[in-house]
Amino acid sequence: MAAREKTRDELDMQTLRELASLPANKFCFDCGQRGTTYVNVTIGAFVCSACGGLLRGLNPPHRVKSLTVCSFTEVEMDRIKSRGNENNSTVPGQSTNAPQTNTKNPFL
Ligand SMILES: [Zn+2]
Repeated sequence: MAAREKTRDELDMQTLRELASLPANKFCFDCGQRGTTYVNVTIGAFVCSACGGLLRGLNPPHRVKSLTVCSFTEVEMDRIKSRGNENNSTVPGQSTNAPQTNTKNPFL
């Protein structure tokens, strides 16, 4: 893997903070609880810490990263930016990852 500059990670963190502050991303994609601390980078959705743990235990496991600790690859950042909770409508355990325009988030 190529060496990464610190500024690149800092930019990612800033982008993630902005994305996490979007209304749709403030609520866990999986359980609807307010307060998201993790990103399911498999589908590019924001989730709470409890669901982050559950997603890691799925078979096959989803890739879950902390919003504050982890650094993200360009591919992961693109997925998060292009999807987010608003453009995801899958449920855990199902692998229909096709982006859809409608949302099942009841808080919107
Ligand atoms: Zn949750």
